[in-house]
Amino acid sequence: MTDLNTLGEIGLIDRIRNATPAPTHSETVRGIGDDAAVFDWGEDYGLLATDMLVEGIHFDLTYVPLKHLGYKAVTFGVSDIAAMNGLPLQLTVSIGLSSRFPVEAIDELYDGIRAACEAYNVDLVGGDTTSSRSGLIISVSVLGKVPKSQITYRNTAQPDDVVCVTGDLGAAYLGLQLLEREKQVFMADPNMQPGLSEERAYLIQRQLRPDARTDIVHELRDLDIRPTAMIDVSDGLASELLHLCRQSGKGAVIFDENIPIDDQAYLAADEFKISPVTAALNGGEDYELLFTVRPQVFEKLANNARITAIGYLTNNPEQIVLATKAGQQTPIRAQGWT
Ligand code: ADP
Ligand code: MG
Repeated sequence: MTDLNTLGEIGLIDRIRNATPAPTHSETVRGIGDDAAVFDWGEDYGLLATDMLVEGIHFDLTYVPLKHLGYKAVTFGVSDIAAMNGLPLQLTVSIGLSSRFPVEAIDELYDGIRAACEAYNVDLVGGDTTSSRSGLIISVSVLGKVPKSQITYRNTAQPDDVVCVTGDLGAAYLGLQLLEREKQVFMADPNMQPGLSEERAYLIQRQLRPDARTDIVHELRDLDIRPTAMIDVSDGLASELLHLCRQSGKGAVIFDENIPIDDQAYLAADEFKISPVTAALNGGEDYELLFTVRPQVFEKLANNARITAIGYLTNNPEQIVLATKAGQQTPIRAQGWT
């Protein structure tokens, strides 16, 4: 028998994909390999994205309120739809529960799910409920759509494209470090009050209740801009950039000083003695969008405060590098890439 660790998550998904027969329906436009599957619905493309969250792996209920967890589970799926340049329509939620959860806990979870449905304008239309022996499991599937002319894949980036990212990166990871630290303090002395102050509020919010960037999808449409390629930043900038470059067969030069990082993230990184750029590259859970646009098109976005140009693409797929102001270049690698 082969140890799962020899394959890793990406290797395992590749293995499943390689063994999957070609689609038999002409409506199936894209299967495994992008942020969402794509279907031909006539005028529009339909989109479907699924995510699963497992207690003890993806969340720790000692500091994650169930209401936020419900919201975050919806954000995951909506973010994948946004990464295809689409907007969400419906979702289903499936839960596995152990008997330690009272009814009120599930009410709280669904308060969060409903709040997210309202925020993203999505209808909750079904799901499945089952018991679980290993705590809480939540799986969300989101259905969305995008006009055919606006669909944006991961594998269609062009050389010389400007690499853009929305919002800022690394804050969710630093928020997690803060919450983990408070948990250790609390476990050592349950009478201790958590030391989470106002100056940390943004980091905690980014970790516990992130928002998917459907606002950017609307904005790109208003500006009549279709990115050449797009992916959402769920596993850290490095990992997502490598997916986009590898699938497009392109290289990239990213300028470290251009990576958008919030002031609170700088301060927390300093406190935890980690580089803020490393937090942005490898932290994950930002739920921002990473996309590429033609250089002429970028001019329309140059003054947009919500979007930052961080580098450009090249024709050399061997060269995916982080460049310093001084001109030094180091290869970008992703944790768990192999
Ligand atoms: P994301 O981080 O954007 O949610 P993933 O890395 O989870 O994307 O998945 C990458 C691709 O692999 C997606 O197209 C997804 O649908 C597909 N995929 C993931 N797990 C499986 C699986 N167990 N069986 C079939 N396809 C899968
Ligand atoms: Mg994704």
